[in-house]
Amino acid sequence: MPEQTSLRPLMRDELLPPSRSNRRHLISIKDLGRPDVERVLGLARTFATSLDRDVKKLPTLRGRTVVNLFYEPSTRTSASFELAAKRLSADVMSIKSSGSSADKGESLKDTALTLGAYDPDIVVIRHASIGAPNVVARHVDAHVVNAGDGKHQHPTQALLDLFTMDEEFGSIEGLHVAIVGDVLHSRVARSNVQALVLMGAHVTLVGPPPLIPRGIEALGCEVSHDIDVIRDADVVYVLRMQRERMQAGANFVSSLREYTARWGVTAERLASGQRVMHPGPINRGVEITPEVADSPESMIQRQVRSGLVVRMAVLYDLLTGGPVAAVAPSAIREVA
Ligand code: ASP
Repeated sequence: MPEQTSLRPLMRDELLPPSRSNRRHLISIKDLGRPDVERVLGLARTFATSLDRDVKKLPTLRGRTVVNLFYEPSTRTSASFELAAKRLSADVMSIKSSGSSADKGESLKDTALTLGAYDPDIVVIRHASIGAPNVVARHVDAHVVNAGDGKHQHPTQALLDLFTMDEEFGSIEGLHVAIVGDVLHSRVARSNVQALVLMGAHVTLVGPPPLIPRGIEALGCEVSHDIDVIRDADVVYVLRMQRERMQAGANFVSSLREYTARWGVTAERLASGQRVMHPGPINRGVEITPEVADSPESMIQRQVRSGLVVRMAVLYDLLTGGPVAAVAPSAIREVA
C-alpha cells in the first residue's frame, strides 16, 4: 500500500523513537491540521448517507483487518469502532483486556507483537496509560488509532463532537462552547479544546479550581470558576466526574453532593435554546440532571450516532488518505 502523508505520522513526535513504519496514525488532535479535520468530517457526512439505506454495509474496506484492543471499560467507543469496521466490510477482531492474556501478565508490547503477527491494517487501542498507542505503533506495522489513553487524548471523541456541532450549527467557526466539570482528569476536554480551537471556536472551561489544570489557557481557551457563565455559550459540554482517575485521598471536591449543588448542569442554569452535550457515560444527577440529559436540547444521542460515521471516516481515511471525492456516493456501493 502506498504511504500516505496528509495526517502527521507519530514519528514526528520528538519525544518518541520512530514507529516501526511510516504508516499514518491518529494518536492526538495535535496530529491534525484544519484540512485533515475538514476531510474527515466530509467523509463522515458522506458515510452518514449510508445510514438511511436498508442495506447499510459498504464494500469499502473488504479484505482489510481491524483489531480493537480495549484495556479500559467502554461502551460507545468500542461498539462504534466495531460497527464502523463491519459496516465497511473489514474483518474485525475485538479484544478486551479482561479475559485476554493481559490478565496473565502479558505486557502491552508482547500483546502488540502477537496481534501484529496477524498483519492487521489498523489497531484501535484504549488504555489507562498515556502513550500506550505509541507503544503499539512502535511494535506493530499497522495504522494506530488512539481510542483514549489515560487522561491524555481521545481524538475520535473530539472529531465526533465537531461533527455533531457542525451538523447542528452549520459551522464550528465562531461557536462558543463551555466545557464544564472535571477537566483535570478528562482526555475528552483536552482533545476537544484543541479541536475546537483549531476549527475557530471559542472555548471556556468552567469548574472548581482543583479540577481545572493550571496553565490550560495555553491551549487557546478561557477559564472561569463561575458556573453562571455557561449561559453565554451556544453549547454546554458537560464532563463526567472521573472518579476512577482521582487519586484516593486527594480532595478535589468536598463531596459529590456539594459538586452537584455548585456545578451540576440543571435546567435553571441553562438559557433557552442552548445545546447540551456529554461524551458519556453520564452520571445522572451528579454532573447533569436527568431532565437536562433527556431534554430536546440534549444532543447526547446524536453524539453516539455521529460516533459511528466519524469512526468509519477515520478508518477509511487512514487506509486511503484519499480526498472526500474518492468516496463520492458512486464509490459507496451497496454489497449485492
Ligand atoms: N467516554 C469518555 C472517555 O472514555 C468520557 C468518559 O469516560 O467520561 O474518555
